Amino acid sequence: MLTCDTPNIWTQFLEYVKDRCSPTAYGNWLAPIHLLEFSNDEITLEVPNVFVQEYLLSNYKKDLCAFLPVNSQGEPCVNFVISAPVKKPVPQREVSEAVVPPSSDVEERVKVKLNSNYQFETFIEGPSNQFVKSAALGVASRPGRSYNPLFIHGGVGLGKTHILHSIGHYVQKHHRGQRVQCITTEAFINDLVDSLRNKSVDKMKRFYRSDVSVLLVDDIQFLQNRLNFEEEFCNTFEALINQNKQIVITSDKPPAQLKLSERMIARMEWGLVAHMGMPEVETRVAILQNKAEQKGLKIPSKVLFFIAEHIHNNVRQLEGAINRLSAHCRLLKESITEELVERTLREMLQQAPKNKITVEQILKSVAAVFQVRVSDLRGSSRTKEIALPRQVAMYLAKEMINESLMTLGISFGKTHSTILHACKNIEKKVVSNETLRRQIQMVRRNVDT
Ligand code: ADP
Ligand code: MG
Repeated sequence: MLTCDTPNIWTQFLEYVKDRCSPTAYGNWLAPIHLLEFSNDEITLEVPNVFVQEYLLSNYKKDLCAFLPVNSQGEPCVNFVISAPVKKPVPQREVSEAVVPPSSDVEERVKVKLNSNYQFETFIEGPSNQFVKSAALGVASRPGRSYNPLFIHGGVGLGKTHILHSIGHYVQKHHRGQRVQCITTEAFINDLVDSLRNKSVDKMKRFYRSDVSVLLVDDIQFLQNRLNFEEEFCNTFEALINQNKQIVITSDKPPAQLKLSERMIARMEWGLVAHMGMPEVETRVAILQNKAEQKGLKIPSKVLFFIAEHIHNNVRQLEGAINRLSAHCRLLKESITEELVERTLREMLQQAPKNKITVEQILKSVAAVFQVRVSDLRGSSRTKEIALPRQVAMYLAKEMINESLMTLGISFGKTHSTILHACKNIEKKVVSNETLRRQIQMVRRNVDT
């Protein structure tokens, strides 16, 4: 048992750790832990909640082992006791909050201010992002009543946040009674941590589960490896879906590739999973033109094509290119030529990425999932059993391979319009066909591994 003269190893541990972490982390995670009991064999700590326990074990296990008793498996011998929640008398204000939708409360919650430039009107469409845009518009027009959740995935800088905020703007404009809450996953976690610390978790839960009508969550990939936060998020998620409240989630990967629990992945695949691809070269030119016009720049279309052909995996870089050119022209008063572009944008201009996924890999994976032969997929049979998987292969090739429709067409021995037609057909089918959605997820998973 702990006595006055027992060397307080816990205090020594805290002092050691304090020098090695940020004051915020220390305040949030370590300061709230109290030593209850200490013997030669074990130590009992009081923690405000299981998140703090998990944090301590996952971040400081090695240090705990150095300071505390260790068992035969090399684990620190620590018991945790969750402190009893402090039962405060319910103040009058809280009672009325539960009845009337709170207003002052809502302003207090962390949220992302919607970027006024990110609207449907400023989003340039092309074959690679049309599907996402129309799904997003569908959700924004009838929140909670079309696809729920809508899960948007795609690489960095392709317009996921742009679309997410567009939904927020649209709902605010057209459905004034609906409360939109747009957050990043990081912000959600921080909010939860603060609420736990201030013992106001119930208030937070009430807010997310009752007051929010449309929840927009950016970058769910940051929920990976945050086990207990994941559970809380999943509960919030289910509560909202059960009340037909709309959820939209963005991610850099499809649900099945996220390192999250089966339960969470299944929930995210419940609604519609939509892929945001890199715009094709024509769309990239349109985006460049649009951004150049906004900056008052006149750029010859040959030059626009030149930039669009060389920057092919990130729309944000296209914007960056225009910004650089704009600055260059203003400072040096040079007119924009291909040569000038090459000079100013040298490090942005990229070579084609290596280790690309091939059409062959996709065909193999489709053949395995749909139980057909690759040669049949490459052939011209129009029977349903072959034509559908063939179209799935084309749809996934467009999603996973960063090539023009023309090039993909050649790889399949078809025209670019056959590929486009296949993509449109599958996009339409996945909306209502659950089995097909699962099969497509399986193919994606197979190709990637
Ligand atoms: P992500 O969230 O996918 O990383 P963002 O939504 O932040 O990407 O987009 C990066 C930038 O590119 C933003 O400034 C956005 O407005 C712009 N952008 C992306 N796609 C488009 C598009 N189709 N039309 C116009 N702007 C776009
Ligand atoms: Mg983003």
